[in-house]
Amino acid sequence: MSLDSIGVPASYVAFHERAFLLDKLGIPENDFMDEVVDAVGAKFRCGSCGTGVVSVTGVSEAVGAHYDLSSDQRLLLEGDLENWAYEFSTDGGLCRAHASGSRG
Ligand SMILES: [Zn+2]
Repeated sequence: MSLDSIGVPASYVAFHERAFLLDKLGIPENDFMDEVVDAVGAKFRCGSCGTGVVSVTGVSEAVGAHYDLSSDQRLLLEGDLENWAYEFSTDGGLCRAHASGSRG
């Protein structure tokens, strides 16, 4: 699977708008991001509790490669992902709670 297979917008600006769109109540619309995460295979389960987690790095690498993003743009995207409604993690095999817990 790739981003092409789900028909993402041609420009990164349009992709970003669609990925981080809020509904009328200000709640994130996750349907599109769900498709993106599935397409790039960035989901895993926390090695400690089994919670479904999305890899920030996995998404940013796939999206960054697709749109040929600069390293600065990728960092911004990773920040957006971490602030998103999903359980995102930058830690290899752990959910946010267990990753932060292990850092003290
Ligand atoms: Zn966990």
